[in-house]
Amino acid sequence: MPNLIVTFEQSQRGSSCFAQERHLARGPGSPTHMAWGDLVTAINYFEQAREPVVPLVGGEPGLHPEIVAICRYVLARRLRVEIQTAGLLDAALVDALGAALAPEKSHCLVLVRPEGERLQGETEGQARFFEVLGGVSSLSCCVDRPDADLGFLLELISIHRLRRRIRLSLRHPADGGSGGSLSPDRFEMLAELVARLAARCEREDVILELDCGFTLCDFSDAHLGALARAGTELSFRCGPIIEIAPDLTTWACFPLHELAPQPLEQHQSFAALRAFFAEAVRSEMSARGFCGVHSQCDGCRHLARGRCAGGCRAHGLPEAKP
Ligand code: SF4
Ligand code: SF4
Repeated sequence: MPNLIVTFEQSQRGSSCFAQERHLARGPGSPTHMAWGDLVTAINYFEQAREPVVPLVGGEPGLHPEIVAICRYVLARRLRVEIQTAGLLDAALVDALGAALAPEKSHCLVLVRPEGERLQGETEGQARFFEVLGGVSSLSCCVDRPDADLGFLLELISIHRLRRRIRLSLRHPADGGSGGSLSPDRFEMLAELVARLAARCEREDVILELDCGFTLCDFSDAHLGALARAGTELSFRCGPIIEIAPDLTTWACFPLHELAPQPLEQHQSFAALRAFFAEAVRSEMSARGFCGVHSQCDGCRHLARGRCAGGCRAHGLPEAKP
């Protein structure tokens, strides 16, 4: 589903997988915050496409000066709102969001990091956020190491009584460099980590969702069995996602933001934009001779049958090569 970047401003206290890339994706002269007129235009596209949820992202979406009014507006348009946040916001703002967000139509996806990677005050700040908004919050975590300890996610859900759901993302190469992403030759080890987490999620009644870019062949049949038993939501897909910047410039996704950015209003619908980006990415990757992250992607039957996209296309950018 498309993401609405309501602001490029970032919290000094927290960052997400793509925080830096989002910052770098901001073109010269591009506004920091989305203006009301542009917001209304973007919401019209969501409505026309019958996209039921409007994901508000950043930067830190909570730093848009009118974030509460934006949430109220999305809900008034009879759409659901999702705030993708680090949860490190002023107490008064958290209270105002708590009053504005109707629980049955609202969701906060809170980006968390393992203990050793958190900045000072991050744990306490997120705890304050969960005190007010825990009932509408679930967790998102970005992995870049196959030896990460992800048990803390289940502990946070239990301590703060969060929604029983975890979105796990891969750190992708972005913005012209591998930027700390995990090399595909370690994806097999990562699959082991994911399968272990899925088994624990199954025991603790938590739904695990895998974000884009995971690769089918790196999961053994035993791994896939564990994921299926846990009801894991996975599709081994690769966009286009459609990211909408404050000035209504759109990209296929953040790591591919330099590839054929488009003014939203140059296309009549999200469907038209998706078709445009799918073709632009296909043609760019074909010109680069990139089929997927593994050498065996070329000729892979799972790719031919559409069951695996071959991983993140950003690995096909020349700067992502080691
Ligand atoms: S290139 Fe594909 S897998 Fe990578 S971030 Fe974009 S949509 Fe996701
Ligand atoms: S397309 Fe590539 S990554 Fe996907 S299953 Fe085939 S070889 Fe693996």
